[in-house]
Amino acid sequence: MKKTESFKKEISKYLNNSDPEKIHLYWKGRVALYAILKAAGIGRGDEVIVPAYTCVVVPNAILYTGAIPVYVDIDPDTFNASKQKIEKAITKNTKAILCQNTFGLSSQVDEISELARERDILSIEDCTHGFGGKFRGKFNGTYCDAAFFSTQWNKPFSTGVGGFSYISNAALNAKVIEENRNLCLPSLIKKISLAIQLFIRKTLLTDRTYWTLVPLYRMLSRNNIVLGSSSGTEISSAAMPEKYFMGMSKVQVKSGIRNIRRLPDLLQIRKNNAEKYTRFLREQELNHPAEALFDDHAFLKYPLLVKDRLKVMALAEKQKVSLGDWLNSPLHPIQEQFDIWNMNTIEFPKAVFAGQHMINLPLESDVDKTKKFIISVQEYIYSQQEIEELNK
Ligand SMILES: *Cc1c(COP(=O)(O)O)cnc(C)c1O
Repeated sequence: MKKTESFKKEISKYLNNSDPEKIHLYWKGRVALYAILKAAGIGRGDEVIVPAYTCVVVPNAILYTGAIPVYVDIDPDTFNASKQKIEKAITKNTKAILCQNTFGLSSQVDEISELARERDILSIEDCTHGFGGKFRGKFNGTYCDAAFFSTQWNKPFSTGVGGFSYISNAALNAKVIEENRNLCLPSLIKKISLAIQLFIRKTLLTDRTYWTLVPLYRMLSRNNIVLGSSSGTEISSAAMPEKYFMGMSKVQVKSGIRNIRRLPDLLQIRKNNAEKYTRFLREQELNHPAEALFDDHAFLKYPLLVKDRLKVMALAEKQKVSLGDWLNSPLHPIQEQFDIWNMNTIEFPKAVFAGQHMINLPLESDVDKTKKFIISVQEYIYSQQEIEELNK
């Protein structure tokens, strides 16, 4: 079997063993979203509903088609847009509803996809955080007409950069296959650069070397040497970068086949550690995600709301606890000029709050060490009661 086919086969195991013909591989996850929108004929004058707490590359893909992203504020306890709020945002121009399983916490995807079906609107799941998790007994990514996934460094399993889609709607799938004829191929330079970075990650980056390599990585990122998640134009404008519509390279496929094998173990570790954090935070009366959300979630990141993020991040670095700051704005990582992406942040207070106060606890390293750290910075962490008061 060809490598591409066996990679799709591995992926389909986490999508109810669906037909590999419905899985499509791309250079990045955002490209998969763009392909879905183009294949659905979405363009000028159309509206696409999106949660107001996402990555900027999501509205970018929408804007590149000529359509308009219409944002919906999140519910503070799910970090997702609720069905009720989405319903209010539907107009006669709405062509697609995008729901997202933020941090792996899928929520209401069954009801939202049902709502879309009733209104004859396309449903798309941003499953970039949730691959491998389930919601009400079904795999994330299988409720909507289409779903897209990311295999970027920080996602459920990695190919360096990369992404794929699963198109359950047969008519749409035929159109995606047609659209994919326009894909360009990664240049040799891009492939070599990615291969080098994958090699470095695999051989040099361990728990022991992490903190020594952080300054080097930051320097390389600042100078655009690392193949980062987003290039300059993607975070400064809504203009489509050159060679955006690009397929997945062999380098990525090979790395994907290797890394997806580790996914069951990783999912188990992340889930166990998420449970440990929840139990601990509840005991300490600190904020934690709603228990009702847990089900069989993938838990890519463990969210915690803090009063002073900079302070907490600085103290964590001193104690060598690797915290994340995802998502650090309504359109991560954008901090200003949201109007470029058709967003007026005043309308989305819950997403703005989450963006200002969110940190992520590490799910693949020593939980006890992180617990100790949390105790030491307790004064900077919102209590569960404070969060409930704020959300009234
Ligand atoms: C990472 C991410 C994406 C995009 O994935 P890429 O593979 O980097 O294009 C989209 N949406 C969300 C919420 C993400 O976190």
